[in-house]
Amino acid sequence: KVCCMASIKNAMKLAEKYPDARISIHYIDIRAGGEMYEEYYKRAQELGVSFIRGRVAEVEESDGKTIIHYEDTLSGEKCSDITDLVVLAIGMEADKDSRQIGKMLNLSTRPDRFFQSAHPKMRPVETHTKGIFIAGCASGPKEIQVSIEQGSAAAAKALSLLYKGEIDIEPASAYVIPDLCDGCGICEKICDFGRIKVTDRKASVDEVACRGCGACTAACPNGAIQIRNYTDEQILSQITEATKEGSEFPLIVGFLCHWCSYAAADLAGSLRIQYPTNIRNIRVLCAGRINPSFVLEALRRGADGVLVSGCRLGECHYTIGNICAVQRMNVLGKILVDLGFDERRFRVAWIAASEGLKFAGIVEDFVKQLKEIGPIGSELKQE
Ligand code: SF4
Ligand code: SF4
Repeated sequence: KVCCMASIKNAMKLAEKYPDARISIHYIDIRAGGEMYEEYYKRAQELGVSFIRGRVAEVEESDGKTIIHYEDTLSGEKCSDITDLVVLAIGMEADKDSRQIGKMLNLSTRPDRFFQSAHPKMRPVETHTKGIFIAGCASGPKEIQVSIEQGSAAAAKALSLLYKGEIDIEPASAYVIPDLCDGCGICEKICDFGRIKVTDRKASVDEVACRGCGACTAACPNGAIQIRNYTDEQILSQITEATKEGSEFPLIVGFLCHWCSYAAADLAGSLRIQYPTNIRNIRVLCAGRINPSFVLEALRRGADGVLVSGCRLGECHYTIGNICAVQRMNVLGKILVDLGFDERRFRVAWIAASEGLKFAGIVEDFVKQLKEIGPIGSELKQE
């Protein structure tokens, strides 16, 4: 979109300045999808710019002349033209220093080095770092119109923070229990937002800037870092309550992330989608908060199956929370098999907030499968 329109603009400028010049644009597909873009494309044609569909096969220098060879794919003819100037319209690239800037500002970059927005559709000018906004080509190639719109949106978002004179912080932020911390530094490495520092063998959290994802809490080997309102103790109490009701078979404990899978479960309810009542959902802010010991505890307390679910991979509200969860749950799956459990008792699913039907389908299928396997422990007795 950017390359097509920029080429058309340059061709028109040349045509206006040098009316006798013969200008052609070789293209595969013209992308003129935008307000008045099609009209702009037509104006270029009216100004005499030729549009030739087909890839240029070769640019040749011969007797001081530049010759291009190409096939016009609309007429099927193979052609050659002598030109004075050949311009290659190349793709836009991110600045080579963008990774370094990202490190300084705590912004994630994509493999193509452009900055990653918090969500490409819902939060295109926000980043995963609160108070830092991006606009225009910072997050990928954009035409001027979109860049201006994004610039205005980013300015409005920044203004709304400044205007308030105070900032809201997450009620669920991490805090350290110094007596339990041995300064191993695991939490510091895992926090993708750089909110933890270990000094003098003790971790400390920037609680105002902490996002509350809980990835650090699930990783700490000593239980020394906790999330307010989502402490290990509070989640374990919920597991105890969820597994108290012994009459339902199979009983499933679901650990669902607040942003996607819990919202999907909610949606399934509000859409009145019918699915079995065998699941007891425990909400966490991110799948990265789910400590494998929660799964073991649920099974130990009599759950016949456990579902761990978060946002679809690549769509984590906290960037890499669900990636951390994937790694942990892969290891946990192997441990469960080593312990003699049927691996089908443990499921991991990535569900978007809009996928209420998918959530219901997963629960239905899981219940069916657990009925085939039998109550928790039946496979252990067989051995
Ligand atoms: S992972 Fe736990 S024990 Fe290690 S530094 Fe962080 S809080 Fe301390
Ligand atoms: S809760 Fe998340 S953002 Fe906060 S310190 Fe832990 S890993 Fe970092």
